[in-house]
Amino acid sequence: MTRPDTDLIIAGGGLAGATLALALAKAVPSLRVTVVEAFPLSPEALPDSYQPSYDARSTALAWGSRLIFEELGLWSRLSEYATPIEHIHVSDRGRFGATRLHAAEHDQAALGYVADNRWMGLCLMRELLETHVQWEAPAEVVDMMPLPEGVRVSVKSGEDTRELTAQCLVVADGGRSGLRETLGFQVRTHDYGQNALIANVSTAESHRYTAFERFTDAGPMALLPHGSPSRAGHQSALVWTLTDEALEELLALPDDDRCRQLQQRFGWRLGRFTRMGACNHYPLKLTTVDEPVRPGVALVGNAAHALHPVAGQGFNLALRGLMTLVEQFRLAVAKGTPIGDLGVLKRYQTLHHQDWQQTVQFSDSLIRLFGQSPPPLAAARDAGLVGLDLLPGAKRWFARKAMGIGGRRAVIDHPARTSRESVKHE
Ligand SMILES: Cc1cc2nc3c(=O)[nH]c(=O)nc-3n(C[C@H](O)[C@H](O)[C@H](O)COP(=O)(O)OP(=O)(O)OC[C@H]3O[C@@H](n4cnc5c(N)ncnc54)[C@H](O)[C@@H]3O)c2cc1C
Repeated sequence: MTRPDTDLIIAGGGLAGATLALALAKAVPSLRVTVVEAFPLSPEALPDSYQPSYDARSTALAWGSRLIFEELGLWSRLSEYATPIEHIHVSDRGRFGATRLHAAEHDQAALGYVADNRWMGLCLMRELLETHVQWEAPAEVVDMMPLPEGVRVSVKSGEDTRELTAQCLVVADGGRSGLRETLGFQVRTHDYGQNALIANVSTAESHRYTAFERFTDAGPMALLPHGSPSRAGHQSALVWTLTDEALEELLALPDDDRCRQLQQRFGWRLGRFTRMGACNHYPLKLTTVDEPVRPGVALVGNAAHALHPVAGQGFNLALRGLMTLVEQFRLAVAKGTPIGDLGVLKRYQTLHHQDWQQTVQFSDSLIRLFGQSPPPLAAARDAGLVGLDLLPGAKRWFARKAMGIGGRRAVIDHPARTSRESVKHE
């Protein structure tokens, strides 16, 4: 192939696509990267209105994700409005099992952090402004043709469709990835038959930097610490899983009644719920692809794996995968191998595989076990929670999963990492 128009096209400038673009700009500056994003979103203009990746959600970032953002030089900005999670409390409504994790027991400042998606978007865009990454938005990648040494990608902008050649296409267009379907990647889907309702809730008592994961017979819920406890009010970010019917009923209620329902489900660990802010909801499915790569193409983020949000693992897993891909691109460029080479992409797949499998299994089994209420399973999960709390080995394993550490760390090795920001890894 003659010199392609660009080296890498990233379809989707959401959390995964934008983070990948930033990481590559820092770790492999010689690579020409173009991001194509369907919404009118760019480093110059983060829209005020809805944008699927940077919407009203908050994301629980594991400790391991903080380390990655530090490597990318983004953490000092991100941490301005990130709330530390110092404790995690997992409990089962109406039953005695519970387990508690504390950052201090693991010699860390925090087990993780909670950041608003909009804030993460703003930080990523501001940082990307300083790089040479090209943005095309609003524009959509609508198709891709393999070439002997790369890909030809069709990019639609308004009524116009034009072709761009590149060494590689990374598909980061989210959980309902249209491109994954167009390109014929096989997916495995499990519909949980539930929705995640998210809202910021005000509480009478402080969250004391605690993330609560609570399993109820109607489905799991999480309350994440949101903002510094203050006299002006205390807030937590709610993720509540509900069936279609329960969701519809809840949304029809006035705010006071919603708070009462939440109180009944969650209990009084945060005192009285005084207000539930704007509610958004998302259907819940586990979606994974078996083969996320083929010559010239790799799937990342939710396009590769969309998980149930209560365990807070989806973006954290995506981030670790992105760093593995960056590492393999960096090595390929150093050796003069095209980045779309199947060997390069397969190595990314192989190195990320174990983490991917274990994290999907961890998150899915939590939901399946705790989402069921028949007595034998309820007893098993009580035993599980009590066991976790009592057995140091099991608890440590659980804590390391929640903190997103303990697995292989990709080496992206770039100048943005400073000694000021380098911290204890593990
Ligand atoms: C309720 C909820 C709570 C969550 N909480 C957590 C949590 O606490 N911790 C955690 O780790 N994870 C969490 N997750 C998961 C996390 O939000 C996702 O992993 C993350 O948003 C995935 O980002 P993405 O960039 O892959 O996809 P998306 O966020 O869906 O972004 C895809 C982007 O691609 C663009 N696009 C789509 N089609 C095209 C196209 N053809 N061409 C160009 N652009 C296109 C879209 O406009 C969008 O910007 C949660 C998810 C949900 C639903």
